[in-house]
Amino acid sequence: MKRALISDIHANLEALSAVLADIRNQEIREIYCLGDIVGYGPNPCECLDQVIRHSQVTILGNHDQAALFDPDGFNPVALQAVYWTREQLEGRGDSSRIHKRWDYLGELPRTHNDGNSLYVHGSAREPTNEYVFPEDVYNQRKMDALFSRIDRYCFQGHTHIPGVFTTDREFHSPEEISYQYRLGTDCIMVNVGSVGQPRDNDPRACYVIQEDDVLTFRRVEYDVNVTADKIYAINDLDNMLGDRLKSGR
Ligand code: ZN
Repeated sequence: MKRALISDIHANLEALSAVLADIRNQEIREIYCLGDIVGYGPNPCECLDQVIRHSQVTILGNHDQAALFDPDGFNPVALQAVYWTREQLEGRGDSSRIHKRWDYLGELPRTHNDGNSLYVHGSAREPTNEYVFPEDVYNQRKMDALFSRIDRYCFQGHTHIPGVFTTDREFHSPEEISYQYRLGTDCIMVNVGSVGQPRDNDPRACYVIQEDDVLTFRRVEYDVNVTADKIYAINDLDNMLGDRLKSGR
């Protein structure tokens, strides 16, 4: 079994294209996408079309949900991006294309369960909205509550910070584990990182390959300036959304 786990594309077509090419080069045919296809970035329709085409399992993210329904709890910059994204989804392409995109978003599940693996956008407790940050390992109550809901493995995104959380309340960043982790009998949570807006100070696109019991964190370079320039050219997308891509924050 060989599968790519991608998340938090955020309408970044250059990052997504680079990741899909990297996945293709390794002859991986199965892709799971853990949500936030749209929001923040300049190419929501194109990214959504790619995910519809290539992903076998796709989970609803909070930004996908915000584009569909009323956005709740978004800061002004994110909110403006949500409304701009909605306009694009409502107005780009012929009506069958538009319907296909909306239907796809509207039918996305919040969780997916594959035997011993759970797939969510946020957390096992609140699949769409809860953040699980590296520093949460110091919050024993939160960790216990999350792990009590996980059979064996939970794969998630949302924070844009990749790594592995263990039940002994440790967080391992990809660098600390040389980009590899072997799945065993212990419960773990895995954040697969973000394709289109990494926030761990590494601007390269991030995703995970699962090959049987081995997880590999991949970092893929792409031309960040192309995406940033597109963002700068769109009034409704704040310039800081382009700036942050360059620093990976
Ligand atoms: Zn996100």
